[in-house]
Amino acid sequence: MPTAPINLHAPYKERIHDALHNKNLKTVLNRTVGRMSASRVAAMGAVDGEQLRRQVRQMKEYVLRNLPDLLEQFEANVEENGGHVHWAQDAADANRILLDLARRHAVQKVVKSKSMVTEEICLNDALEGAGVKVVETDLGEYIIQLAGEPPSHIVAPAAHKRIEDIAAVMQEKLDMPPTLDAEVMCSAARASLRREFLSADMGVSGCNFAIAETGTVCIATNEGNGRMVASLPRVYVAVMGIEKLVPSVEDAFLQLQALSRSSTGQQVTVYLSMTSGPRQPLDVDGPEEFHVVLLDNGRSEMLARGYGEALMCIRCGACLNICPVYREIGGHAYGSTYSGPIGSVISPMLAVEASEPEKLPYASSLCGACRDACPVMIDLPRLLLDLRHYYVQQGAPSWLERQAMQGFLKMMQSRKLYEAGGKMGSLGSNLLASFNGGAITHMPPPFSAWTKTRHFPPLARKSFRELWAERMERRKSISGREPGEG
Ligand code: SF4
Repeated sequence: MPTAPINLHAPYKERIHDALHNKNLKTVLNRTVGRMSASRVAAMGAVDGEQLRRQVRQMKEYVLRNLPDLLEQFEANVEENGGHVHWAQDAADANRILLDLARRHAVQKVVKSKSMVTEEICLNDALEGAGVKVVETDLGEYIIQLAGEPPSHIVAPAAHKRIEDIAAVMQEKLDMPPTLDAEVMCSAARASLRREFLSADMGVSGCNFAIAETGTVCIATNEGNGRMVASLPRVYVAVMGIEKLVPSVEDAFLQLQALSRSSTGQQVTVYLSMTSGPRQPLDVDGPEEFHVVLLDNGRSEMLARGYGEALMCIRCGACLNICPVYREIGGHAYGSTYSGPIGSVISPMLAVEASEPEKLPYASSLCGACRDACPVMIDLPRLLLDLRHYYVQQGAPSWLERQAMQGFLKMMQSRKLYEAGGKMGSLGSNLLASFNGGAITHMPPPFSAWTKTRHFPPLARKSFRELWAERMERRKSISGREPGEG
């Protein structure tokens, strides 16, 4: 079965169902993100990983506390360097700014470096709608653009594709002879992309981080496409969320280290492109114009609502790679630009195109692996629980769920009810299990959702309290003393 894309606009349950029933998807995900996860553990273990996490966390906390000042400092420095800064309240604003620039410079072709923020604002649709050709130049992103799919992972956009799937796409779209040789496929992509770079009028990238004290936009890549995008076309535009700032050059290298080690397990990415302004008279290359679009799109609102911690994310993907839910269903099943644990937190709050984003905080086992893997120590399980609480308050759970929770609350407040409930549960579940070899294999709706794929174990015949009382009784009869007596 090919790793066909999940329909992002399908209902939540349908997306999950389709993902769970795609065996190839699980195999390829476990291989790809499993490898990335193991590399992260090794790379963080090669240095004092905990110290690195603490330092990055401290720096990002500083950024959030001083965000308005740092943004102003960054803007002043970009303009002093000869660049231009644009403020975009939302996706429509950002796309309008990009389209105006494209029109002003008679742009016919844009080359892009992989960027989640431009996915967030659906920039490609906006540009293509205006007749501008858009070419993604990160290899993974290029492949999924050829396949007509969105990325399924923050760092590895084609993480859901097997080499056979990629070969099929390239044969069809690049007229490449059949092969599974990765080197041959890379060469074909490189040759095609080289032509696009040389004929593009505008380069667009996201931004891994931007340095406030110098007005510098930094993009980390492993293929060098970032620097082609930033230096070959006449105009270069970087789109960045307002939270992407770091105060100083030292902080930039601190974040680069955490990013490289946590995402791909490298000590440092192969390329780091730093752009501080347009080409100067003595420069041999570089864009004639340099623009930065600073995007809010719900970020200020996140800060105001107390979810600022999620804005410290450096988009390394470590939480996706370790998450048992992501590893089962992949990124498309989340139905949003951002997937995995961090996607489940930010998708309901950012103004991103997402299908049923209020369901995403429940797409987690709350095991805490994401928090332990995160290089910024973001407490993702707490944020997910907060969001669940918020949606409960908004009345998102069904009537039945609310009644069940009310009943559970009453039971937990009364010892008598609690003990009686436990007894009845134990009797009933053991009776049901006795007909099915010791496990409950079928339950009526809504519990059937559980027994469809798992068995339900019967409750213990005796509660812990009863077992404890019996134990104390036995002790007393052996020693003749009350437990605890000298
Ligand atoms: S939440 Fe943490 S682990 Fe997840 S992508 Fe962001 S920085 Fe990486």
